[in-house]
Amino acid sequence: MHRTWLLLLACVALNAQTKDSVLIITDAEGVAGICRQEQTEPTNAELQKLLTGEVNAAVSGFLRGGAKEVVVWDGHDGSRTLSVATINQAAKLIIGSLGPKMLLDRGFGAVAFVGQHARANRERAVMAHSYSSLGIQKLTMNGKEVGEIETRTALAGWFGVPVILLSGDQAAAEDLRAIVPEAETAVVKESLGYYGCMSLSASAAQSMIEQRAMEAWKKRASIRPYKVEGAVEITMELTTRSTPSPEATLGAGVERIGPRTLRFRGKDFMEAWTRWSGR
Ligand SMILES: [Zn+2]
Repeated sequence: MHRTWLLLLACVALNAQTKDSVLIITDAEGVAGICRQEQTEPTNAELQKLLTGEVNAAVSGFLRGGAKEVVVWDGHDGSRTLSVATINQAAKLIIGSLGPKMLLDRGFGAVAFVGQHARANRERAVMAHSYSSLGIQKLTMNGKEVGEIETRTALAGWFGVPVILLSGDQAAAEDLRAIVPEAETAVVKESLGYYGCMSLSASAAQSMIEQRAMEAWKKRASIRPYKVEGAVEITMELTTRSTPSPEATLGAGVERIGPRTLRFRGKDFMEAWTRWSGR
């Protein structure tokens, strides 16, 4: 084959994100069997094993459903939980933090959450928080309390990408279905309180995740991207220990509306999101 063609093919293989590609965003607090704070330490051996099992189940399900590429972002606390040594060999692993666009501008066909928890202040939800339990007391978008599920689903929607699957506790599943009713969910545990749950076994959870991932991929064309239209306002109430200095300089579109609360405004979702992400 001509060298130019070989080069071109190599480039295509490395940049293979297409409509046949799915991005899995992982977290810890929604994994089956993870219900205590110390289990969420990113290098906790039990967490690594359980999350890897759930991720690999989702990868298998998507591939069985017809996806051509699965990219996994180790999204929990500094990308220290997953490893290429144990990830499904057909998947690619992203290690490290992502910018505000979270690579969604690369043209993924779908997004999935594995091990996801519900937003801060959600009742009956295992270790529910919004991005940081230590730093953020409450996050709202256009007046509604939100967390990773709502904001990242809106980010995917901005790029026309649907969130097709979530695995986590029953509260996280309900939160996604409230904004994407067609999404598939795998409820791997039921919250009995912030640090209490009734969980499926790892193998039962993984079988369910694999099955739901396969179904989600097959029906992805019928799952609508979640679009937040118009001007957007994000407010962030910080925890007492994160109280900002009154002298802190705030960027464009950011105001202090209380001793611990900042407001980020944008003409649209992306502007408000970028301002909040770059805080
Ligand atoms: Zn999280």
